[in-house]
Amino acid sequence: MEINFDKNGDGLLPVIIQDAVTKNILMLGYMNQEALDRTMETKKVTFFSRSKQRLWTKGEESGNFLYLENIKNDCDKDTLLILVNPVGPTCHTGSDTCWGEKNISNFGFLSKLEKVIEQRRTSSTGETSYVASLFEKGINKIAQKVGEEAIETVIEAKDNNDELFLNESADLLFHYLILLQAKGFTLKDIEKVLKERH
Ligand code: AMP
Ligand code: ZN
Ligand code: ZN
Ligand code: ZN
Repeated sequence: MEINFDKNGDGLLPVIIQDAVTKNILMLGYMNQEALDRTMETKKVTFFSRSKQRLWTKGEESGNFLYLENIKNDCDKDTLLILVNPVGPTCHTGSDTCWGEKNISNFGFLSKLEKVIEQRRTSSTGETSYVASLFEKGINKIAQKVGEEAIETVIEAKDNNDELFLNESADLLFHYLILLQAKGFTLKDIEKVLKERH
């Protein structure tokens, strides 16, 4: 890998550490050539610590190692992005990330949708909300709705109309998120079951 270690004049390169699975940014550190070599050899991320002025394998005291998954060079070869599998919390404060955030899986827009559904369920503004009215009708009604959307999805899968199939799939997923929440669960719980099977 061609890398420009001398851009800052100190032989050090900023390195962004990202969780390979959740994609959250965990911390930022610096590497010299030796630290990078050590990282690739041992598969444990090793920095050059500016405060310690020596090679520092993250986790050497705490055991919270960052296991190397992938290394990416940036456009002008002066910053690395390193994808890792962290053993425990990455920050020495005990926090998952150095910015105090939890390193949770993010399902992107689906996570956002889960939050919107939760707002509709918990807020009693008196507004007519389809989601709120479904929650009022209870689990049986919601489950039935999921069943209907599933059947509609099956029917459209057998046809050759992609647009209808995608629309029914979206209906199904949306009502399934509502059912999950009505049962007191989230996508995270389903992910856990799937991971355990894996
Ligand atoms: P560790 O590498 O996890 O064994 O931690 C050893 C020492 O490195 C800690 O006591 C901190 O001084 C420092 N340290 C650990 N993690 C971080 C971090 N994410 N950012 C900056 N310094 C850290
Ligand atoms: Zn750059
Ligand atoms: Zn930190
Ligand atoms: Zn439908």
